[in-house]
Amino acid sequence: MAKSFACKDMGMQCGFEVKSDNEDEVLEYAQLHAQKAHNIQSIDAAMVAKLKGAMKDVPSAAGTQPSAPAAAPSGATAPAGTPPTA
Ligand SMILES: [Zn+2]
Repeated sequence: MAKSFACKDMGMQCGFEVKSDNEDEVLEYAQLHAQKAHNIQSIDAAMVAKLKGAMKDVPSAAGTQPSAPAAAPSGATAPAGTPPTA
């Protein structure tokens, strides 16, 4: 489950949205955005609580996560020194 944050959910006239599987990351981006775009310099605990409250659970991005296949070395079966029979 991923988290998303939309600035408009905070009552802002703003199209900013961020989404991540990592809630901390969403919070971080939301704080950065608040500072840069809305000139909110002091993000205190109350503001963090507000941001968290405005977050929503969203499904993780579907089908775009490549599953890393186990690295299978091919052709790594070189015979070690088979002497020719004379
Ligand atoms: Zn915004």
